[in-house]
Amino acid sequence: MPGMSEAQTPAAVLNNATLAARDLQHVWHPCTQMRDHEQHPPIPIHHGRGPWLYDYDGRRYLDGISSWWTNLFGHAHPEISAAVAKQATQLEHVLLAGFTHEPAVQLAEQLVRLAPAGLTRCFYADNGSAAVEVALKMSFHYWQNRGAKAKRRFLTLSNSYHGETLGALAVGDVPLYRQTYQPLLLDVLTAPSPDAYEREPGETPEAHARRKFVAMEALLQQHAGELAAVIVEPLVQCAGSMRMYHPVYLQLLRDACDRYGVHLIADEIAVGFGRTGTLFACEQAGIRPDFMCLSKGLTGGYLPLSAVLTGEEIYAAFYDEYAAQRAFLHSHSYTGNPLACAAALATLAQFARGGVLESNRQLSARMAARIAPLAAHPHVVDIRQCGMILAVEFAQDRASRNPYPWQQRRGLAMHRIALEREVLLRPIGDVIYAMPPYVLSDDECDLLVDTMIHCVERVCGD
Ligand code: PMP
Repeated sequence: MPGMSEAQTPAAVLNNATLAARDLQHVWHPCTQMRDHEQHPPIPIHHGRGPWLYDYDGRRYLDGISSWWTNLFGHAHPEISAAVAKQATQLEHVLLAGFTHEPAVQLAEQLVRLAPAGLTRCFYADNGSAAVEVALKMSFHYWQNRGAKAKRRFLTLSNSYHGETLGALAVGDVPLYRQTYQPLLLDVLTAPSPDAYEREPGETPEAHARRKFVAMEALLQQHAGELAAVIVEPLVQCAGSMRMYHPVYLQLLRDACDRYGVHLIADEIAVGFGRTGTLFACEQAGIRPDFMCLSKGLTGGYLPLSAVLTGEEIYAAFYDEYAAQRAFLHSHSYTGNPLACAAALATLAQFARGGVLESNRQLSARMAARIAPLAAHPHVVDIRQCGMILAVEFAQDRASRNPYPWQQRRGLAMHRIALEREVLLRPIGDVIYAMPPYVLSDDECDLLVDTMIHCVERVCGD
């Protein structure tokens, strides 16, 4: 066959080794030092079922991290797959400028119904970082349209993460991702995170959050005139090693943002759709942000899609004669893609049946009980949990909490050990965590937690 390499002929053998070898000829992987693949080639996945992923050699892996926190109801879910397939035969895509389609309309209606009251406007984008860019630009642009030209800066929390595009990276604070690009980034203000791991001995997470809020209040007071918005990940700083904080911080922040005339952006991209025990994490603080960013679980882990929800007052600042030049012209080609919206609607239908949050409560209680004995391990310094997110922090020294030298890559060693036990885990620094799909059986849940324990015991046994 002219133009076809040998590897592409129908007779080519498809197994882990052949596919990985072909992959490494051309595919440049995300979040990866490609040279690592000389030792450990990527694992080609052939199919998924429920919480399991199956490779080409017949091995399987329990997806303990929901494929980067996207999957909610399992892989190849019959109803979500059918909804996408049906939509594909009707309309795969149409631009959302000047046109619309039923899945985008229905999804906006449903999101507005589910979100904190008053978030009545839905702007679509196509991934999490893009949603953060939209929220930042919309906030800045709102103040421009209102004549507050000086309000052009953003305030973020230390240890936060909001994505990899330049605007999103600028409001993030994880050095691993940010440092190299620092010269390219916006100048943002950073308040200390209320992360409960940092609390003093005997201090409650609430008291700690209140104490940390003093610095936030001071920054708001000092910079209100130049601040457009504060951006936070409600309750859990996921990429920042699953650090968690008390909801009172969000209440204090909402109140202060109102007092100082600064927007509040809630990045629920990782924590939305039930991860923290409520549909949205903001609910636990009873607050309504000015912008709420959604992605990841929005489509059940099927397709890239994101949405930024906001309210009428902000919408009104852009609504004018065309000649007034106030419109929000931000656009992505795949904005509100119908296939992705269909996946999202089928995902929301799973929640609408009821019982999801309740069964998650049982699963998270089971995880908590099973992990508890690990607290006695000499290298375990913290076990924390928020709903369906369970994290174990380990350290070289328990008293000082000094981390292991990062060059030892103990997290990577745990990843390899977990794979041997048919579990996919991907530690972040010195934190091994589970954020599984919601469809685990009790046995699968136990396998996941037992594997975390086994990994810590094997890699921090000395
Ligand atoms: N915000 C948060 C809180 C995230 O966890 C992530 C992704 N890990 C993003 C934004 C970026 O989303 P995406 O990877 O889809 O760009």
